[in-house]
Amino acid sequence: MQSGFSITAFEAVCQLYTQFLVTMLPALRPCPGCHAPREIQGCRRRALQWAADQIDFIALTRLRCRACHTVETLFPPWILPYELAALWILEAAVTAVAVDGHSLQQTADRWHWSLAWIRAHLRPWIAVSPEFRALVAQ
Ligand SMILES: [Zn+2]
Repeated sequence: MQSGFSITAFEAVCQLYTQFLVTMLPALRPCPGCHAPREIQGCRRRALQWAADQIDFIALTRLRCRACHTVETLFPPWILPYELAALWILEAAVTAVAVDGHSLQQTADRWHWSLAWIRAHLRPWIAVSPEFRALVAQ
């Protein structure tokens, strides 16, 4: 993501996911176990904080392999499996604290988190941030 990247409507977030599917689905379609083409099986609704005061449910496509009886939910690189906030928000929070020297309290306030929440999460975010930044930049 570019710095200053911002999204103003949830529709734009959904469009970003559609773009991800269009680009990645051909490569993701074959089953990693048996290489048979998998079929789309509905979606999984996933809560996503995509702006400071905005949490919506995004529908993540699922692929099913009939032979292996497996189902995989397709996460774009900007949704981390165990984080509510989108990657661009984590990046903004990490940058505010680690680069711009903002306090944890200021940053927690900006994104509507509790101080305890950001305290518990910031270190793992800093750890994954460069890795995911590289992924998204591809
Ligand atoms: Zn399979």
